[in-house]
Amino acid sequence: MRNVLVVEAVGRGVGALFGALPVLRGAGRQEAGEVCELDDGEQPAGGEQFADAPEGAVGVGHVVHRGRGPHRPYCHGWEVRDKSIGILATSPASIHHAWLFRQLADDLIYFTRSTELDAETRARFAARNIRIIETDVKEVVSEEGALAGVRLTDGTFVGRRVLAVATQMQARTEGLEGLKLPMEDLPDNMGRRFASSMAGTTEVAGVWVAGNATDLTAQVGASAAAGALAGSHINALLATADTDAALAAGQKTTG
Ligand SMILES: Cc1cc2nc3c(=O)[nH]c(=O)nc-3n(C[C@H](O)[C@H](O)[C@H](O)COP(=O)(O)OP(=O)(O)OC[C@H]3O[C@@H](n4cnc5c(N)ncnc54)[C@H](O)[C@@H]3O)c2cc1C
Repeated sequence: MRNVLVVEAVGRGVGALFGALPVLRGAGRQEAGEVCELDDGEQPAGGEQFADAPEGAVGVGHVVHRGRGPHRPYCHGWEVRDKSIGILATSPASIHHAWLFRQLADDLIYFTRSTELDAETRARFAARNIRIIETDVKEVVSEEGALAGVRLTDGTFVGRRVLAVATQMQARTEGLEGLKLPMEDLPDNMGRRFASSMAGTTEVAGVWVAGNATDLTAQVGASAAAGALAGSHINALLATADTDAALAAGQKTTG
């Protein structure tokens, strides 16, 4: 797990500080060049979906998988740092994806795959030495089980050790339909979430939402904090209700 700092009490008065990046790096390691496959129609964990996975392009979209592929730079980016990375664009969200992966590697190519890039974005890519390839990707090429690159529709081979695809995020709704909680779309086709207000309150009385259900990009730290905040809000309301009830009971007795 990345991006979580935990302080555990170890023995008497001894504290151990675990920085997720250096200590837990071994878990879920992604080897650059690894080609990992999803079965047809399978989606990665966490409600993420490969929006517009390039159908018909053999292999494309099969590179990022069950949480070990680099679709989230904060979760999987460290292992692929300094490799040759290709961004397979799926939507405007992929532009932001490119900025994030550029922090990790100098050699970055943005495959537009028919998505729009305005002049300002092109200038910003140029300023960051991000190459742009507009010819469509036909297939992913692997050699001896390792990712070698992509072949474009004009036959050109472009070597890449890592391919990243931005996912579309969908809050899971199964089993919750009966609550009729309002949902809303995020901009740029990024995903869909349960709408919420302060401390996770919703328009449905007695229902709070927290974590990825309502904040699709929240990681463990932010999700846990949102859960704690919702819990304290619920408890505050219960404490007030208990006091109201006690007062009402007292007034009944004396009245
Ligand atoms: C591949 C991957 C790697 C990640 N790596 C990192 C990382 O390194 N560091 C980091 O900070 N974050 C990471 N994250 C993000 C992290 O997993 C989430 O931010 C976090 O799990 C969100 O917590 P949550 O409680 O909101 O949701 P979840 O952890 O998804 O928990 C929701 C739970 O609700 C259950 N549930 C769903 N519907 C129902 C229902 N109707 N009834 C009862 N239960 C239900 C689900 O089964 C699930 O157990 C990663 C995510 C993915 C997908």
